[in-house]
Amino acid sequence: MRTILYPGSFDPVTNGHLDVTIRASHIFDRVVVAVAVNSEKKPMFSIPERMELLRKVLKNYPNIEVASFHGLLANALKEFDACAVLRGLRAVSDFEYEFQMALMNRQLNEECETLFVMPSPDYSFVSSRLIKEIALNGGDVSAFVPPDIARAIRKKAEEGNL
Ligand code: ADP
Repeated sequence: MRTILYPGSFDPVTNGHLDVTIRASHIFDRVVVAVAVNSEKKPMFSIPERMELLRKVLKNYPNIEVASFHGLLANALKEFDACAVLRGLRAVSDFEYEFQMALMNRQLNEECETLFVMPSPDYSFVSSRLIKEIALNGGDVSAFVPPDIARAIRKKAEEGNL
C-alpha cells in the first residue's frame, strides 16, 4: 500500500490542486490531502471549512482522503504512513521554493522524498492567492474552482465575510 501526502493551504482548493491530486491518485494506492495548520493571518476559510470543502469535491475518489496536520511535514509523513510528499509545479517560478523545501525536508527526515506533478496547462496560472483577490474584488472565480467552492465563496461574500 503506497501512500502519498499532499500538503498545502488549500485556501481555497482550486482546479489546479484537484488536477494534481487526481493525477497522483492514478499512480498511488492512497493520496492524503493534508491541510497545513499554520498561523496565516487572514484565511478565507477556516481549517474545518477547507477540509469540508475538500471532502465535498473529492467525494467520488475512494483512494483520496482529507486530513490536517500540525508542525513539520517530515513528521506528518510518518503520521500518515506516507512514502512521499506530493507537490504541484506550475511554472519555473514555483521551482526555487519547492526545490529548497524538498531538500530541507530530506535533511529533516532522510526518507522524505518529494514528487512533483505538473497540472494541465489550463490550470498553470491558477493560484489560491489570485482566487482570493478576484473574489475580494467581486469577480467571478467559477472558471478556476469547482462549483461547490465557487458557491461557498459566493456565500462568504454575501455574508460580508470575505
Ligand atoms: P502553499 O500554502 O504551500 O502555497 P497551496 O495550497 O497554495 O499551498 O499549494 C499546495 C501545492 O499545490 C503547492 O505545491 C503548489 O505549488 C501546488 N499548486 C497550487 N496551485 C496549483 C495549480 N494551479 N496547479 C498545480 N499545482 C498547484
